Amino acid sequence: MASEFKNEPIKLFNDPSDAGKQKDAIAKVRASFGTEYPIIVGGEEIKAASTFGSVNPAKPTEVVGKFQKGDAQIAEKAMSAAATAFESWKKVPAKERAEVLFRAAQMMRERRFEFNALMILEIGKSWIEADADTAEAIDFMEYYAREALRYDEGMAVTPVAGEKNRCFYIPLGVGVVIPPWNFPNAILCGMTAASIVAGNTVILKPASDTPTIGYHVARLLMDAGLPAGVLNFITGPGSIAGEALVNHPKTRFITFTGSMEVGLGITEKASRRAGGQKWIKRVVAEMGGKDSIIVLDDADFEGAVSAVVASAFGFQGQKCSACSRVIVHEAIYDRFVDSVAEKTNALVVGNTEDQKSYMGPVSSASAEKKILEYIEIGKNEGRVVAGGGSHPLRESTGGYFVKPTVIADVDPKARISLEEIFGPVLAVIRAKDYDDALEIANNTDYGLTGAIWTSSRENWNRAVDEFHVGNLYWNRKCTGALVGGHPFGGFNMSGTDSKAGGRDYLGLLMQAKLVSETVR
Ligand code: NDP
Repeated sequence: MASEFKNEPIKLFNDPSDAGKQKDAIAKVRASFGTEYPIIVGGEEIKAASTFGSVNPAKPTEVVGKFQKGDAQIAEKAMSAAATAFESWKKVPAKERAEVLFRAAQMMRERRFEFNALMILEIGKSWIEADADTAEAIDFMEYYAREALRYDEGMAVTPVAGEKNRCFYIPLGVGVVIPPWNFPNAILCGMTAASIVAGNTVILKPASDTPTIGYHVARLLMDAGLPAGVLNFITGPGSIAGEALVNHPKTRFITFTGSMEVGLGITEKASRRAGGQKWIKRVVAEMGGKDSIIVLDDADFEGAVSAVVASAFGFQGQKCSACSRVIVHEAIYDRFVDSVAEKTNALVVGNTEDQKSYMGPVSSASAEKKILEYIEIGKNEGRVVAGGGSHPLRESTGGYFVKPTVIADVDPKARISLEEIFGPVLAVIRAKDYDDALEIANNTDYGLTGAIWTSSRENWNRAVDEFHVGNLYWNRKCTGALVGGHPFGGFNMSGTDSKAGGRDYLGLLMQAKLVSETVR
């Protein structure tokens, strides 16, 4: 029997030996820059007619990896390999499927500094953020392996006289896994591992900003013992490779994590029946957020300031759970704005190859453009009290560096209050009282995470009832959900509330079969 699940500890790199290993791993990954990677279908390495480069956002002239531009034809081949492999993989006992994940988790532990280095170089995560991402990937594998064993016990049924009844879970079929770039190890690995351990076969299409990490995770899972065709890895633009797979009649389910726009498009396309399609495609879609922290006048002031700054600017604010709005009681508003601005101005922005950098570049040129446009909009919608544009490193290095930006006095209905920016921009909104604060907190289309800072349990109890988000926290950050402890997923336009890292998740990737024997 597997031991009780425990979260993988996150490294803070205080130990010089860890720091040394991380530096060596960065050098090793650097030495592999420019490598060309294949698509992997049915265990076979495939090259496409053209390639694209994945770049280091801190220095975009550096190509981290060259990848194949998969198209509809390659998608068709991947579907055929996955459908064939499903016929045998679905018969493999849950225990054996779980063992692959346990092995893969151990292999990732042994290579954690290399996976961290990939994220430091391909997407600009700080060392600690990268290690937290790798630890979460390990957690997902350890957790879902145990969950597969639990689901294997089936669903309890009420005894019926004269019958012997069993209800058990079987896999769905071929799944298409479409993750985002912002947790390029954890989310990609979690979505893929869960689908596979449930007995499905998958076609994984990583985000085009982070295919190198995706490739190494896919390889690791294959090397841990997956038979050929169970996991197929296909790179290329979402609008071509991804869409062909979403529309394919043999696709049984899609697990997507990304923006609201793309998620809604996938949901709509998946709902149309393609020629020869025999089922309703299941879509698990985790989408955007516009997450708020409410700070009341009875809060631990310094604690609230630190939590808001960490939630807003960790990984450059590029977390679906990031605090992008802080709603502050007017009695403490001015002092709070000053303190947040001061703490924000003290954040160290730099190339995250350097352990000291707290914030690195944003993910891409297009993300940078969108964020800078929102900052300009924000200048008309409020008062910039920290940051307010490109960081000087933009000029000197060419990297996509944006200053951590705080915009105060924002109207609750302003665009920067309601629209997802997905970057280091925090809007500060004044609330008259707690009623007003709750109303503002619930005024977006999203409902992913939120937090409240108050010393009153009564206030907290009210938030539990009225603050409408999938993940709500009291007196802590609104980021940093832990697998097992904080099942993760949001309401409204934040998605289908799948609660990744929770006990319901594997059920979304399986179907239950009831068999009833008449006993004579
Ligand atoms: P996108 O929606 O742009 O992309 C997500 C994935 O979808 C990528 O792999 C992308 O491929 C693919 N894709 C794009 N277009 C299509 C299409 N037409 N058909 C099929 N697949 C497609 O999101 P980002 O990668 O920019 O991620 C950031 C977003 O993710 C934010 O909105 C964030 O809030 C959300 N997110 C939500 C989480 C949650 O749990 N709710 C967790 C983490 C992030 P390609 O890269 O090739 O375009």
